[in-house]
Amino acid sequence: MIGVNSGSTISLILKNRIIKMQKYWGLIFILLLSFSCKESGKTTVEKQSLEIASIEVLEKPIVKHFGFNLEEFEVQLDTIKNGDSFGKLMMDHKVDYPKIAKITEEYRDTFDVRKIRVGKPYVILKSKDTTATAQVFIYENDPINYTVVDLRDSVKAYKEKKQVKYLEKEVSGVITTNLSESLLEQGIDYMVTHNLANVYAWTIDFSMLQKGDRFKVIYKEKFINDSIYAGSEQIEAAYFEHNGKPIYAFAYENDSLKSIVDYFDDEANNLRRTFLRMPVEFGRLSSRYNLKRRIRYYGNKIRPHKGTDYAAPVGTPIMATADGTVTESTRRGGNGKYVKIRHNGTYSTQYLHMKKQKVKRGEFVRQGDVIGWVGMTGNTSGPHVCYRFWKNGRQVDPLREELPKAEPLAETLQPEYFSYISPLKEQLDCIAYPEIQEEEDIQATDLASLTE
Ligand SMILES: [Zn+2]
Repeated sequence: MIGVNSGSTISLILKNRIIKMQKYWGLIFILLLSFSCKESGKTTVEKQSLEIASIEVLEKPIVKHFGFNLEEFEVQLDTIKNGDSFGKLMMDHKVDYPKIAKITEEYRDTFDVRKIRVGKPYVILKSKDTTATAQVFIYENDPINYTVVDLRDSVKAYKEKKQVKYLEKEVSGVITTNLSESLLEQGIDYMVTHNLANVYAWTIDFSMLQKGDRFKVIYKEKFINDSIYAGSEQIEAAYFEHNGKPIYAFAYENDSLKSIVDYFDDEANNLRRTFLRMPVEFGRLSSRYNLKRRIRYYGNKIRPHKGTDYAAPVGTPIMATADGTVTESTRRGGNGKYVKIRHNGTYSTQYLHMKKQKVKRGEFVRQGDVIGWVGMTGNTSGPHVCYRFWKNGRQVDPLREELPKAEPLAETLQPEYFSYISPLKEQLDCIAYPEIQEEEDIQATDLASLTE
């Protein structure tokens, strides 16, 4: 659930690069900012075109691929097929056996020929003469890392990395339908929606977004060899206005020893709560906690609903809303298959109507862990999870509970934090919303005047 943690190994390795890039882009953006905040309206568009212009500046005509000038060779691009082995591929391309043996035996640490996998891309650079003998073999371990086997003269093998660059990106949106549509309309990667939902998972109930809620995001996009898009990085800073209430979010390393990144607001409060707002990532709130609910089916008698229902397709993962120990994982009557988790002496949560549970009694689960899947077991008319929130042994409405906050940023870290977020906050404040908003406002007033 928490993207920040799952990607931590990668982001750690790349961190130094990010910081370097940040300085570079920082320069460009400072230049932009001095204009952008004063002019209203088209700033986003201008920025985007400027961003593109600056990519072009960065992009020099690429003569070399994998460190070789391809024009000097006959190039063969292919992928490893069933039955291929390094030896066979080399023999097929007229490489002498002693050379193959040398790579296989002496360079096992760099290139273990037994580990080549079906489906992986490779490149063979052949001599341009009539013999078309393989000169270089390049095996692509993943989109960034590759191994070069140089078969010319004295044979050798070495590992290399493609150049990875980060481009800072600013996005903003106004909710008309839902978050993912608002971003997808702008051609933004789904991962950004997912990450944004994670940043605000504790503070905003995404099933209760209002038309007119709006947001701004700053994050980086990753490019390999300057041009190939390779996904988005974690969100650096964001702003979300829900029901007119603004919430800033800044990624900050809370614990440098464990390299834990948390999101804090502009007052250094942790955005994380001890409980997630809801147990599914994008569910629709279909029925609230209501002690006076009347159901026609039961002759309009009062049938209190002590749960909060989130409708979602069968099979949608259900997450533990906080760390805790599973006290029940069973099937019983109207509850169907359900899981109950004890978080501490005060709180427990319960998740009903599962298709299937993923955890057993006694198991310890972390917040965001998948504990089962949405289903229709027990007493239910459609696929949903009935989320029950227990406080001191009684069921309460989680949407009305002031959920306990996680610890704010340590006081000792705060001065550095505030100077770190100051330019980011200014940058956020300067991002304009897309023009759709204005058009819609006009339409709304037009309609209002018509109906008056
Ligand atoms: Zn329910």
